[in-house]
Amino acid sequence: MILLSACLAGVPCRMDGKSKPVPALTALALRGEAILVCPEVLGGLPTPRSPSERQPDGRVRSAQGADVTEAFRRGAERALEICRSRGCCCAVLKARSPSCGKDCIYDGSFSGRLVPGNGVFAALLQESGIPVLTEEEALTELPQLAAEAVREQSGGRP
Ligand code: SF4
Repeated sequence: MILLSACLAGVPCRMDGKSKPVPALTALALRGEAILVCPEVLGGLPTPRSPSERQPDGRVRSAQGADVTEAFRRGAERALEICRSRGCCCAVLKARSPSCGKDCIYDGSFSGRLVPGNGVFAALLQESGIPVLTEEEALTELPQLAAEAVREQSGGRP
């Protein structure tokens, strides 16, 4: 079983009230091979919500300056519990998100600049020994997703 950022499977839980579906990942969820989580929603944040970014000190602030670190941490811990209880082998998380981003996130200035770093949830998973892939990595590194993506590109022809 794979843990998956819910927005990648079409759940409209992003800050703008939309999703960011990836067809191969949505198919995985529809086959019952993925557990969907949105750590920000699990932390009690509303949808839609203000954009937030991790700051250089690791805390998370909204564009209006509110400190939302505790909600991000609470949601990450709840999502980790779900991951463990369902026995997920790894997680596929939305790239560049302040919760789900892996290796690369926005720099906290709300100017669109990216810096090396992890979102709060991606960091917690990795500290807990759960391998994390971005959706971009998953499409090349997980064999069943790669096969699904090839099928989509060929219009379902073998
Ligand atoms: S917190 Fe993660 S799952 Fe939720 S909307 Fe953001 S990127 Fe998607």
